[in-house]
Amino acid sequence: PFELRGKSVYVAGHRGMVGRAIERRLAHEQVNLLTVSRNEVDLRDQAAVNAWFAAKRPQVVFLAAAKVGGIVANNTLRAEFLHENLAISGNVIQAAYANRCEKLMFFGSSCIYPRLAPQPLREESLLTGPLEPTNEPYAIAKIAGIKMSEAYRIQYGADFISVMPANLYGPGDNYHPEYSHVFAALIRRFHEAKRSGASNVVVWGTGTPRREFLYVDDLADACIHLMKTYSSPEPVNIGTGEDLSIADLALMVAAAVGFRGEISFDTSRPDGTPRKLLDVSRLSSLGWRATTSLTEGIQLAYRAFCAERDGRLR
Ligand code: GDP
Repeated sequence: PFELRGKSVYVAGHRGMVGRAIERRLAHEQVNLLTVSRNEVDLRDQAAVNAWFAAKRPQVVFLAAAKVGGIVANNTLRAEFLHENLAISGNVIQAAYANRCEKLMFFGSSCIYPRLAPQPLREESLLTGPLEPTNEPYAIAKIAGIKMSEAYRIQYGADFISVMPANLYGPGDNYHPEYSHVFAALIRRFHEAKRSGASNVVVWGTGTPRREFLYVDDLADACIHLMKTYSSPEPVNIGTGEDLSIADLALMVAAAVGFRGEISFDTSRPDGTPRKLLDVSRLSSLGWRATTSLTEGIQLAYRAFCAERDGRLR
């Protein structure tokens, strides 16, 4: 297995939900953690990224930096999502290679699979059909990153791997009312409705799309496991293997928050892809499975939301 202990490990995107979870998990691995603020190094700037890599020489890289958001952010900021994510992946992967990084993990997404690919989504479905239009720019940038990691392995023998997480949630999420992902949006909306005594909460779309939700600390644990044990050009899906409808998610969030009013659906909002459930058999065969149930994860995420919110108000 690949040894992490004693290595200098760069977490790109350490202020984001994924990067923070990777950092928490790395605290148990006796590594020399490297991070850099975006004021110091703008990852969209190739020269700045190269200079930083040449100075710090990280041996291991978790490439968790990205411009991300929910269905409306993806669909609205189309040029930014494509440009910034292409630039970040291209710059960091090339700098890692040029500075002899021993191992790199690239973070893709379950949205890279064709909209109507067979469910659950197998890694082999990549590039077999058209993408979901609402997040096509993001998906195209992420597919480019996956293919870059693969190409650097094939041409240069670089040990670059890529992982495809399900929809993520947990501490450090972004709760923007318009641009967040569904999980964070619902936590906030139900919480605020309960606080204000509102009788109704609006959920976007029809409520029928199905999604798979993975607690971000489970993701981080899977990533450390794969960093140590996996070395292949084939991407690896990371999920729980279970999904539910958005309407059922709304009921679960309402229950966890203690909101007892009504739920209505705004069908003028987009549904996005009808279903996104990952096939996690490759990950299972590699000896890892998720341990946080959705019921437990919602409680943890809601507690984190309240703590983060109190922290900001103080
Ligand atoms: P996606 O998984 O890439 O489609 O991204 P999202 O997490 O943004 O959305 C997942 C699903 O949740 C879509 O069907 C949305 O219509 C639905 N949804 C319901 N309410 C909300 C909300 O308040 N915010 C977001 N982002 N999605 C919502």
